[in-house]
Amino acid sequence: MTEHRLETGVAIHGGVGTLPVDRMTPELEADYRAGLRDALLAGHDVLSLRGTAVEACVAAVRVMEDSPLFNAGRGSNFDERGVITMDASIMRGDDRQAGAVAGVSDVRSPVRLAQLVMERSEHVLLTDAGAEAFARAQGMEETEPAFFHTDRRWEELELARAAGAGRPNVLGDDPTAKAGTVGAVARDASGLLAAATSTGGMANKTWGRVGDSPIIGAGTWASELCAVSCTGWGELFLRNAVAFDVHARMAYGGASLGAAAEAVVHHTLGARVAGSGGLVALDAEGRIEFSFNTPGMYRGWVDETGEPRVAIYR
Ligand code: ASP
Repeated sequence: MTEHRLETGVAIHGGVGTLPVDRMTPELEADYRAGLRDALLAGHDVLSLRGTAVEACVAAVRVMEDSPLFNAGRGSNFDERGVITMDASIMRGDDRQAGAVAGVSDVRSPVRLAQLVMERSEHVLLTDAGAEAFARAQGMEETEPAFFHTDRRWEELELARAAGAGRPNVLGDDPTAKAGTVGAVARDASGLLAAATSTGGMANKTWGRVGDSPIIGAGTWASELCAVSCTGWGELFLRNAVAFDVHARMAYGGASLGAAAEAVVHHTLGARVAGSGGLVALDAEGRIEFSFNTPGMYRGWVDETGEPRVAIYR
C-alpha cells in the first residue's frame, strides 16, 4: 500500500510475469519503466482534460497493449497451437456497467473493444468470432496476426512446450512464469472509479482456454467502494472470485482496501499456492493498493500532479 491518496489519477500493473532478476538487463528494465510511465501519462492526460475514469483506464491499457513488452495486444502469449487469443474487460464503479471480450485474435485494442461492448451493446461478454464481428460493426479495423507476433513470446512458447511435454498440465509447474497481463484502475474528478484488464493469457494455454481477465468479479471489478485489476494464475483467480472478494471484504466485513487486498492475495491465494499473482486497486478516497505474492509485478501510479512513479520488484 502506498501512503498516498490521489484526488484524480491512475494506477497500473503490467503483470506479475516479471523477468527473473538475472535475465533483466539495464536496457530492458529501462524499457519496461518507460513503457509503464508512458501508460501512466496517457491516463493522466485524459484525466487532466476532465476525461472519465473509464477513458483513463482505456488510454493507459492501450499503451501497454501496443507495446511489445507486455503480454497484451502486441506481444501477447501464444496458445498451444501457436495462435494469439486475447481477453479484456472493463467496469465502471457507479452503475456497475461492464464489458468484456474473450478469445479475440484480430483486434488491436481488446480493452477498447470491451469498452464498446459495455457502452454500445446490451451484453457484458462477447467471445471469439462474434466479438470480432462486433468489432467490425463498430468500425474497428481487422489487425493481421503478424502485428501481435514477437520472437520473444514465440521462444517462450517453445520453452513452455518443452517443459510441459508429457505433463497433464500444459502450464507446467510454475504457471505465473508464463503469465503477464496489463491493467489499470482510475479515479476521476467526479469521484468515479473504474478498472480495466487486458491479456494474451498464459503461454501454451489450451486452445479455447479463458482466464480471469475478462471475467467480471474474478480479474476485474469496480464498485462505489473500490476498483480492482488482477494478474496471475487465472484459474486460481476464477475459483476465488478475487476481484469481487476484495469488494466483499470491504462491503460486508468493513475491511480497509489494504486489509482486504492483503487477505485475498496473501491468505486466500498465497496460502494455497505461493506465487499465484497480484492486483492493483483504488478505494473511493483514492488510496492506492499494490498487493502481490510473486517476486515482482510491473506497476506504477500517477496522481493529479502528473509525476509518474514506477516499480518492478519488491
Ligand atoms: N491472469 C491472466 C490469465 O490467467 C494471466 C496473467 O495475469 O498473467 O489469463
